[in-house]
Amino acid sequence: LDLTIASISELNLKQNHSNFIHSAKTGWLSGAQFYQIAQGQAKMLSSTFDLTPGSRIALSGRGSVSFATTFLAAQILRLVVVPINPNYTERELTYILKDVRPAVFACDAIDQPNLEFITKLRFDKDPYIGPGSHLPTTNSSISLITYDEINRRGTDQSSLYEGESPYGKINVDGQTALPCSGSPSDIALCAYTSGTTGNPKGALLSHSNLISSIQGLSVAWDWKSSDRLLLTLPLFHMHGLGVGLIGSMVVGSSIVLEEKFDLEAVFSAISAHRPSLFFGVPTIYGRLVGDSRSSNFSKFRLIVSGSAPLSPQTFAKIDQVMGQPPLERYGMTETVMNTSNPFDGARKAGSVGKPLCGVSVGIDNRGEIWLKGPNIFQGYLGQEEATAKSFANGWFATGDVGRFDEDDYLIIDARLKDLIITGGFNVYPREVEDQLRALPQIAEVAVVGRQSEIWGEEVVAFIVWKSLPLKTSDLIDLLKAQLAPYKVPKDFISIDALPKNAMGKVLSKELRKMAQDI
Ligand code: ATP
Ligand code: MG
Repeated sequence: LDLTIASISELNLKQNHSNFIHSAKTGWLSGAQFYQIAQGQAKMLSSTFDLTPGSRIALSGRGSVSFATTFLAAQILRLVVVPINPNYTERELTYILKDVRPAVFACDAIDQPNLEFITKLRFDKDPYIGPGSHLPTTNSSISLITYDEINRRGTDQSSLYEGESPYGKINVDGQTALPCSGSPSDIALCAYTSGTTGNPKGALLSHSNLISSIQGLSVAWDWKSSDRLLLTLPLFHMHGLGVGLIGSMVVGSSIVLEEKFDLEAVFSAISAHRPSLFFGVPTIYGRLVGDSRSSNFSKFRLIVSGSAPLSPQTFAKIDQVMGQPPLERYGMTETVMNTSNPFDGARKAGSVGKPLCGVSVGIDNRGEIWLKGPNIFQGYLGQEEATAKSFANGWFATGDVGRFDEDDYLIIDARLKDLIITGGFNVYPREVEDQLRALPQIAEVAVVGRQSEIWGEEVVAFIVWKSLPLKTSDLIDLLKAQLAPYKVPKDFISIDALPKNAMGKVLSKELRKMAQDI
């Protein structure tokens, strides 16, 4: 691995593309234009706000070039970017903002009216203890600004400083990087975990964490500067930001950026721009395989799935409808990317493949997956105890349970927190879910544990029916032919839709609560 690149903001050296990024709003921008905009914005941000390296800047919003250039501007200033889901409620946002204490919060104009409360939040100026303790405890309140404003005043700045900026010379060929005073170990991101299992935690990732992970991926996927990524994933999550945007910046490939996943936009982008790469989550693939136009994906060089388990059923449908098998990989907010199925070689349904270059994967006697490598994050912001609990001898405990198959491919069976222990036996929800999902009457299913006086925990299934529900006694008979009796759910609960987060992950903690309350 080449770890000589110190910073994401140096990567423009590789972005000599005349067509680097496309959005419906901006059309194509070259790498040089993209970098020049970011440089103007960096100047604007540093002259408007009280920012020092390590200050946090929250970036909320949908897939937009403005989000991407502001991200780069922040990296130029060596700020810590905090990606934010624009659909978070006031309660969810308040939790994260009080935790991370950003100096600036940038948002899309349409969200601004709902975000005014942010400017009234006040926090203490106590320094962080543990991870992040070296970061400046800047201000006690947050400045709110829209991307439009950053763009408008950033453009003024770049024309004012045309050819020269306080950061160095701006070369219109995009070949000159800002002189970089930072080090690869500087924190580039404080990315909040999805909060699937508990409160979201702020994972601190350094420049070299991010860059090394992409270098592993570029080897595994043969990802080259000639590739063009159709990016429909949110930029506030590691999949879209860390792999999609930063990945394309590191590799020097190009991006067709969509505001969000939309079937019509996807098919018109395919015919207009002929992308070669697609990254999706299982819910996105679930929608694509239902549309016959998805046969157009056969022209892609590679289609990747991640963020949540891809069912063998969806894997097979993708192969059939989209004309090629998907490549499934395994990542986390804390570690960017860990393992992947091979680009050349067997892509196995139900498996997340082999460790990426530089990453070591171990499994302890409880089945928990541990990781070691240059991609592993620096700790949870201000959470000494949670960080200490997650590390041992330089290894990171993922909280996922898995095993290797006969070809050394990793299979993720469950999250440790979702593992059900009933009458002393372990039940992996995924195994029961796979059996239920194979029934033609069932659209979606999720299995969780419920406290029980007799069993400790008992297995409960939530089912979204495709057709008329089956009788419980028939369901039990069908399952008993495939599963040991202790794995067969004690209760089947019909539900209109499973609760999911923005990445389409099923929120098991909500289902556990529902199962308990019923
Ligand atoms: P929290 O940590 O706050 O509970 P989260 O773990 O869902 O939320 P993320 O970091 O977004 O937050 O997700 C990482 C997790 O997603 C992994 O630990 C793993 O459980 C799951 N995951 C990612 N890719 C895959 C995959 N291909 N197959 C199965 N699970 C996956
Ligand atoms: Mg997690």
